[in-house]
Amino acid sequence: MTSIKHKPRTIPITEIEQSAFCRSTSSLKSKTLAEELKAGVRWQTIPAEYRTLESEEVVDRIRESREKLADRIMVLGHHYQRDEVIQFADFRGDSYNLSKYAAETKGLEAVIFCGVHFMAETADILTDSDVSVILPNLMAGCSMADMAKIDDVEECWDELSAIYGSEKLIPITYMNSTAAIKSLCGENEGIVCTSSNATKVFEWAFQRGQRVLFLPDQHLGRNTGLRLGIPSDEMVVWSPFKASGGNSLEQLEKAKVVLWEGHCSVHTRFTVEQVQNARAKHPSVNVIVHPECPQDVLAAADMNGSTELIIKTISEAKPGTEWAVGTEISLVNRLAKEHPDKTVFCLDPVVCPCSTMYRIHPTYLLWVLEALNDGVTVNQISVDQKTRKNALVALERMLNVS
Ligand code: SF4
Repeated sequence: MTSIKHKPRTIPITEIEQSAFCRSTSSLKSKTLAEELKAGVRWQTIPAEYRTLESEEVVDRIRESREKLADRIMVLGHHYQRDEVIQFADFRGDSYNLSKYAAETKGLEAVIFCGVHFMAETADILTDSDVSVILPNLMAGCSMADMAKIDDVEECWDELSAIYGSEKLIPITYMNSTAAIKSLCGENEGIVCTSSNATKVFEWAFQRGQRVLFLPDQHLGRNTGLRLGIPSDEMVVWSPFKASGGNSLEQLEKAKVVLWEGHCSVHTRFTVEQVQNARAKHPSVNVIVHPECPQDVLAAADMNGSTELIIKTISEAKPGTEWAVGTEISLVNRLAKEHPDKTVFCLDPVVCPCSTMYRIHPTYLLWVLEALNDGVTVNQISVDQKTRKNALVALERMLNVS
């Protein structure tokens, strides 16, 4: 296959577009790409003839293109993708499991990652170097990953290392971060974690050092620290926009965990009030939320856990049970559809999908598939060798811990 070179693009901070897809009805049915673009979003430009294609034609052409490519490629679909995209996924999963599927399948020419940029980077790191990883819309970033820019993190790392001197600081990054951040962790005796293994990874880190720098999600970091009994006043938040992250020397010297000031724009929409409202309307409801939610929401919920744990818990629950879920709406709607014997609803009454996951409109999937059939690889995500090598070290440490 021929590879088309693209200029590197900056994946922008995306929260400004968040409201473009927050709707008060429960319908998230895809429209033509041209109609969705009318919301004023800045998505990747693709050939004009694709923009006005109606859904039925898109679906038929995706099916045809996919069949022609057979087992030369694999289509991966993150749980937060729209139904119109997920129906074409060979595997569904969270970011880490999807990358693992891709890495374990040999003989592929390309992996089409229907997810966001950092996920495609991770897949590129974990797959053999001759596999092209494709992100259908290059503007599908992640607002949380965007909040930890490598230059800011390097500055923070240098300052903290100088303050802590001989006491070892272990960097941990959540999977939802750029390859550059994973690489910094790999290079500095650090590690990657997911929302499923964050507790084990924290324990691993504290066996090797006295303190942890946790990137980029302050909520997952705080929730994990609290679970391990670390008091709130021994966890500080580091803001990249303030001198010393907004902390005094005394606060930093007392801190066991330094939390990067990042968050998920989807999971921070959930509130204690929503939990109370769900309980008022459904007295026997079970409230389950993702650990990217703020700490007070976790405290008000009955349980919390990763996307995979939420899916498993609801799938295995008894018929007739009621579930209020604090995670991304496309997944919650799908769970409700797949389990009609249970009541499953989103804690947030406003229908608001992850605006960056939503950028993988089915028409983009069609475009990259048809290009592959024409012998052209578009939107390839390539991590440079040095970054790849160090990021892989951090990912492999996590695998060993798990
Ligand atoms: S749900 Fe949150 S963390 Fe996940 S891709 Fe969207 S913004 Fe990023």
